Amino acid sequence: MNDFAKPWRGIPRELIQWNPQIEEEICIGCGMCVTGCGKMVYKFDYDKKKPVVVTPLNCMVACVTCANACPTRAISFPPLSYVHKMIKENDLIKKSREELNNNKEKYGKK
Ligand code: SF4
Ligand code: SF4
Repeated sequence: MNDFAKPWRGIPRELIQWNPQIEEEICIGCGMCVTGCGKMVYKFDYDKKKPVVVTPLNCMVACVTCANACPTRAISFPPLSYVHKMIKENDLIKKSREELNNNKEKYGKK
């Protein structure tokens, strides 16, 4: 289990409650979440035929891709209002604008 993850926009990742929760009763073990997550948050338990969240801190904050792709809606996340509150409380919009202005070469449309 990887317990170390990079901070998210300057906030220690350990302080952010953002990772998938699986409702095992309605999970059909298709593996779409396991094979679709580029962050390797999941592994598959081949005995139980169920996904397991092994590196929750690797989950990209605000990403809900696996929940959207799950055919039985077995995956859930905290409400997006949790992320929006964090953005407000940490002044992240101002920081994002500053980052844009300071990195025109990197982010600018050619
Ligand atoms: S995508 Fe959904 S149904 Fe498929 S293995 Fe993952 S949680 Fe289970
Ligand atoms: S939300 Fe995104 S990063 Fe997090 S586990 Fe799902 S697919 Fe992976």
